[in-house]
Amino acid sequence: MIRKALYPGSFDPITNGHMDIIQRACTIFDEVTIVIFDNPSKEPLFSFLERKEQILKVLGAYPNVTVDSFKGLLVDYARDHEFHTIIRGLRAVSDFDYEFQMALTNRKLGKTIDTIFFMTDEKYSYLSSSLIKQVCKYGGDISAFVPAYIEEALRLRYE
Ligand code: ADP
Repeated sequence: MIRKALYPGSFDPITNGHMDIIQRACTIFDEVTIVIFDNPSKEPLFSFLERKEQILKVLGAYPNVTVDSFKGLLVDYARDHEFHTIIRGLRAVSDFDYEFQMALTNRKLGKTIDTIFFMTDEKYSYLSSSLIKQVCKYGGDISAFVPAYIEEALRLRYE
């Protein structure tokens, strides 16, 4: 049996923190599918297509990771593509409330869906896409936070 999991998020853009979670997930699952969702409470900087292209570019070394995007409910995507496991990353206690609420809601909506949490490496525990965007917008060095390709994409966007 192939063990497959879904890693949903905004990935606007993908960061070293996301990459760390993907790397951890790949040691447990045979196939990991990253699905880009739009978070209605966040205005995206990059389009679905741009984010998909960025993720494909930086994940070249992971042949068992695929990328997709979806507008709608996560549980609908999971049901239609026969996923029973959702991966999420936990940075700090502050993530827990929101993630707990979302995991339970998803389980209520899709009875066969469970969420598995991976703890990020402590060196990425303070990283978020929003913070990185702010630092880049005002000319700060983001090379330790994102892959070089993403750093370039952010610089061009803010130029
Ligand atoms: P969302 O808008 O759905 O929270 P994100 O792209 O911000 O989408 O995050 C997707 C997932 O990756 C979430 O589970 C989030 O907690 C996790 N994540 C984000 N940044 C990091 C990080 N630095 N380390 C570990 N997990 C992270």
